[in-house]
Amino acid sequence: VVSIEGARKSFGETVVLKDISLAVRKGEVVAVIGPSGGGKSTLLRCMTLLETLDGGTLSYGDLTVAENDAAGRTAYAGKAVQKEAKTRFGLVFQNFNLFPHYTVMKNITDAPIHVQKRPKEEVEAHARTLLSKMGLTGKEDMVPCELSGGQQQRVAIARALALNPDVLFFDEPTSALDPELTQEVLKVIRDLAAEHMTMVIVTHEMNFARDVADRIIFMEGGVIVEEGDARSLVNDPKHERTKAFLSRCT
Ligand code: ATP
Ligand code: MG
Repeated sequence: VVSIEGARKSFGETVVLKDISLAVRKGEVVAVIGPSGGGKSTLLRCMTLLETLDGGTLSYGDLTVAENDAAGRTAYAGKAVQKEAKTRFGLVFQNFNLFPHYTVMKNITDAPIHVQKRPKEEVEAHARTLLSKMGLTGKEDMVPCELSGGQQQRVAIARALALNPDVLFFDEPTSALDPELTQEVLKVIRDLAAEHMTMVIVTHEMNFARDVADRIIFMEGGVIVEEGDARSLVNDPKHERTKAFLSRCT
């Protein structure tokens, strides 16, 4: 569904990604864990075209978004290809990023109606189905500040799903929430995993990652230190740095 290879990224003198490769298959749930500053958000931002790569390739299915030139520097495809790529993923941030002046319904339906040009009735019916899955039926006409953080995050997930993406990216979707609200949001993500939604989730919730992800990537210092089947990586890490990180987490 999405594949990044040999990804390199620096901000000035700071090397943030050093040769990262990650391919996510349809229906797979991948959790990305690791210490602060390890490059997790930067990796997601490069995969979602919010940052440009210095080196490496990126593709969404059959769509090549970025390739290496002869000098090994990333060359991006044209605007039309990038625009097409952006229809293939959804992104959910830590801080919900809803439009504060739009109702819940308008937050969810705005892009499908105005960007994807789908019929309003169909999009609103889809939005109602998604809201009911998120446990938010009846909240259509509220604005974000009238909702709890957990409810806002579930609206943000519904908004991402309304675009029918091939893959959903989450960057620490629960780290701004207190424990009770965290569980509401994690439950929604668990339900999506049970439906085989393809997802890449940066998270500090180790139990959640172990139970829900198929595969865990442990990143530190801009490299993938260890990756593997979720249960074995958490229960039986091979690398000393993975062991040290996990022991600090529990
Ligand atoms: P956290 O767990 O704290 O979210 P992270 O693994 O997501 O950490 P990143 O946010 O990817 O880490 O940051 C990796 C490094 O890149 C950090 O040293 C950070 O200061 C640096 N960095 C990230 N974005 C920028 C930017 N726009 N300009 C300069 N430096 C940046
Ligand atoms: Mg981050």
